[in-house]
Amino acid sequence: MFTQTRRIQAILEATAPVFRFMTESTWSRRRSEPGVCDFALGNPHELALPGFVQALQRWTPPQDKDWYAYKMSEPESQSVVAAGLRERRGVAFEPQDIFMTNGGFAAIAVALGAVVDAGDEVIFISPPWFFYEALIVSIGGHPVRVPVNRETNDLDLPAIAAAISPRTRAIIINSPNNPTGRIYPASTLEGLADVLLTASKQQGRPIFLLSDEAYSRIVYDGRAFPSPTAYYPSSFLLYTYGKTLLTPGQRIGYIALPPEMPGREEIRPALTASQMCTGFAFPNALLQHALPDLEKLSIDIPHLQARRDRMVSALRDMGFDVHVPEGTFYLLPRSPIADDWSFVELMARQDVFVLPGSLVEMPGTFRLSLTASDEMVERALPRFEHAVRQVRSSQTASAAA
Ligand code: PMP
Repeated sequence: MFTQTRRIQAILEATAPVFRFMTESTWSRRRSEPGVCDFALGNPHELALPGFVQALQRWTPPQDKDWYAYKMSEPESQSVVAAGLRERRGVAFEPQDIFMTNGGFAAIAVALGAVVDAGDEVIFISPPWFFYEALIVSIGGHPVRVPVNRETNDLDLPAIAAAISPRTRAIIINSPNNPTGRIYPASTLEGLADVLLTASKQQGRPIFLLSDEAYSRIVYDGRAFPSPTAYYPSSFLLYTYGKTLLTPGQRIGYIALPPEMPGREEIRPALTASQMCTGFAFPNALLQHALPDLEKLSIDIPHLQARRDRMVSALRDMGFDVHVPEGTFYLLPRSPIADDWSFVELMARQDVFVLPGSLVEMPGTFRLSLTASDEMVERALPRFEHAVRQVRSSQTASAAA
């Protein structure tokens, strides 16, 4: 008889709500039906950018016998990434400090695998992206959850300081944040660096900062994006092109080590080894060939911002309590009924699919992805209004009873 390993059991436990949604929800059965309005995940609902398709077509014909040979972090890819980071951030990242991965998942797994020993603690912030806990468990680490300040959605620095123990090896920070949309301000990142430097000094070894910057190019209102890596030298910058290009199924991303990172020489081979034993976590050849073109492309951010504004103001007019995200493509309104799964199913009965906030440790809310099409938005808005009315009238009826 097959018995699950303890590691797989822990991973299944950490991802149980997501798995339940993926396999048992109305969304899981009906999401491909025509006419549904799907806000559940950050998936595309329109055809990919023409520039993306052209880039893949242009780089498909092999130019030499090694075109589709085994690929690792190819020097051309490393140069493209380093040049892009230098241009956008004004930081002299070196090509040899760029490690190409098949997306953000792999970047996180590889960085964790390179620095975390069995039993080491890794801090992550709640509400989190669904898979941090599972990724930490999968490399034998011990996840330690620290909530944000619920008023501001900013990092709670005293809580982070209090969570650090002699076994703390790393902390994962995600800005702009999925699901809150918060960009952590420079002052917070300075404070975080102070906390981490003090604790690292006390322990005589660095606590590594894993900076998940999946949404760093999806920011609104002309805001700047301060990268946590600019404030704390022992940082790994983790990136995926899957959000900027809205092509999460064609997987390419990277890990970048800042030029001032201490011990880079020892960290480089550790990362490459971790990439190999994570299942050869390098991007496929074609995506690396096409990278000079892909690096310059982006989905239309002003259009996404207009969609954000349309949805926020329409939902607020209906009485929803909803914040304005500074970046990412998610809204996180309060559910009109305390049980977010019930609200999700109520919306699903009207062919509108949203994500229960419980999946991101925010029970009583629901998450909407702005990657739905404009047409879905316009069709869905009256159904949200209808749902709110339905909930209110049943609440009034039960209060009167
Ligand atoms: N980090 C965050 C915060 C994310 O939202 C995602 C994708 N939802 C990832 C990492 C993983 O990105 P990818 O699927 O492109 O590997």
